Amino acid sequence: MHSFEKLLLENKAWAAERVQDDPTFFKRLENIQKPEFLWIGCSDSRVPANEITNTLPGEIFVHRNIANLVVEDDVNCLSVLEYAVVHLKVKHVIVCGHYGCGGVKAAMMDQSFGIIDKWIVGIKELYNENREEIDALENETDRVNLLVEHNVRKQALNLAKTLTIQKTWAREERPTIHGWVYGLKDGLIKQVLTLAPPVKKLNYQIV
Ligand code: ZN
Repeated sequence: MHSFEKLLLENKAWAAERVQDDPTFFKRLENIQKPEFLWIGCSDSRVPANEITNTLPGEIFVHRNIANLVVEDDVNCLSVLEYAVVHLKVKHVIVCGHYGCGGVKAAMMDQSFGIIDKWIVGIKELYNENREEIDALENETDRVNLLVEHNVRKQALNLAKTLTIQKTWAREERPTIHGWVYGLKDGLIKQVLTLAPPVKKLNYQIV
């Protein structure tokens, strides 16, 4: 059997199990999508949003890219944000990075990764801005992980500055923006930043 065929077989078994547990499971999901959360995470295969939060289909609207970035001219991410916040009316937007992130590691190297260089240029800048603090750490893993935390804070602040968030915050007390970091070694999420409206002024020093 090819590896992809196993996925299709597993899918059949999964769908059958869902219906066995709850005969209306798919009917319900087919008719309505009302998630409370938007998740902006890393594409890394070890950080699946639903699995690590023990949530079901229908509970989290998801966008993932390398190193969980919110870039001001990324039409893909901004469209997902607009749809989730304005149309689905999510209450929480979560940016979730993870320790040991390959995208963050790559940004710290003097090495070219082709097209990816263009994508991670913002993390390279962030590294330069915080170089003194980061390079003071002896252990390479610690250095990467500190930049991972800085990156999550930065992306949460980038989110807060988008037109979608600004116009929603002007009218409503939602969504709350969360910056989280997932630990591959223990499966636990650490909260590093929360921006709950009303946010009068963005504070770049928030920890
Ligand atoms: Zn990653």
